[in-house]
Amino acid sequence: MFEALSERLEGVLKKLKGRGLLREEDIVSALKEIKIALLEADVNFKVVKDFTEKVRVKAIGKEVIESITPGQQVVKIVHDELCRLMGGGHSKINLSPNPPTVLMFVGIHGSGKTTSAAKLAKRFKKDGRRPMLVALDTARPAAIEQLTTLGTQIDVPVYATNPGDSPVKIGLDAVKQAHAQGRDVMILDTAGRLHIDEQLMNELDDIKREVNPKEILLVADAMTGQDAVNIAKSFNERLGIDGIILTKMEGDARGGAALSMISVTGKPIKFIGVGEKIDSLEPFHPDRMASRILGMGDVVTLVEKAQDTVDINEAAQLQKKLSEDKFTFDDLKNQLNQIRKMGPLENILAMIPGLGKQLKGHSVDDRALIKIDAIINSMTKQERTNYAIINASRKRRIALGSGTTVPDVNRLIKQYIGMKKMMKTFRRSGKFKLGNFLNSG
Ligand code: GDP
Ligand code: MG
Repeated sequence: MFEALSERLEGVLKKLKGRGLLREEDIVSALKEIKIALLEADVNFKVVKDFTEKVRVKAIGKEVIESITPGQQVVKIVHDELCRLMGGGHSKINLSPNPPTVLMFVGIHGSGKTTSAAKLAKRFKKDGRRPMLVALDTARPAAIEQLTTLGTQIDVPVYATNPGDSPVKIGLDAVKQAHAQGRDVMILDTAGRLHIDEQLMNELDDIKREVNPKEILLVADAMTGQDAVNIAKSFNERLGIDGIILTKMEGDARGGAALSMISVTGKPIKFIGVGEKIDSLEPFHPDRMASRILGMGDVVTLVEKAQDTVDINEAAQLQKKLSEDKFTFDDLKNQLNQIRKMGPLENILAMIPGLGKQLKGHSVDDRALIKIDAIINSMTKQERTNYAIINASRKRRIALGSGTTVPDVNRLIKQYIGMKKMMKTFRRSGKFKLGNFLNSG
């Protein structure tokens, strides 16, 4: 996400960063480039104007120009303004003091309501809550089926009745059911249309009035840029919304929707969707996002993801093996599986400062990891613990069994040996660095 914008802004700021002296005209010309970069990123033009003016006022001040590191100061100003533009701080979902908290998802067809409802339910479940999904898109049987399937997948109950019942009635019945079953969060998945129309708005209005949700969350597709912003604006004016879930962010190189949303609608982005998988929903943190845009990485999110997915016991065991030089191919396999659980490799590596840019243009895909997994699976138990016995004929057998080639097998063995060597070096400090492994191939 934000790749195109990120590249442009990094380029502009790099010119300023290294300089010991900045003149006013340097800043003015940088601002011109920033303005163009933002407009090309499809940010609303009023937002761009306001943004560059704010940066100008702060950057042209004496303190910046006369400071020892004027370029760095300008970078900080741009970072802080980007952060402010996206809402400043993280905006949480408000839960009712009297459960169940009812959350109503609205948005046009295909924006990602149903998928995001399931993703959010899964997050609630992980936090120890008892969510429930409610299918109110009653006009389309397929929509009910989609939600039911997702519910089964994440083991969250879905309240659905026959198509044809009024959404208000289903919503009210679902609230009763939630009370009876001790469900504390309900997510209402409402109908969407291709366009906003009166009939749909009336239906949503009725649900809002009768079922009385704690929050109405608009789900919008980031890839549609300013359309997403305009849709959010219309829904807010007509229905009133409390926040936004911006989906398909991983495919949006420009970022115009994310950057314009709050200025235009006055409503914060609470979550972003970053993939089709059920785990691909992240809380939206403006400060971290600003850092990502400026190529500073997002280590905090990375660590959080790791904490969510890495098995602590396994990690401790691994640590022990490393310190005793007993690291086998099986351990490597486990390690890589943990990494894979964290999501698409490309997304993860982009969060490491500086790495996102280096990787630009190279496709780092998960298939490399899957290949390694297959190769290790084709090894015998002895081979996994003692790579020295893997001779030419064994290599051929492993390649055949895993659907790879002998050079693939050789590469993995080389990487593994490299890793073992590296560990010797790190053993004293007890640190294992993923980055070094990835570079060792
Ligand atoms: P709805 O009509 O608003 O309920 O939209 P759906 O939830 O059915 O989603 C429409 C399509 O968008 C589906 O194919 C989803 O898998 C896809 N989708 C939803 N969120 C994301 C996301 O964050 N990233 C990507 N790549 N696809 C998404
Ligand atoms: Mg749907």
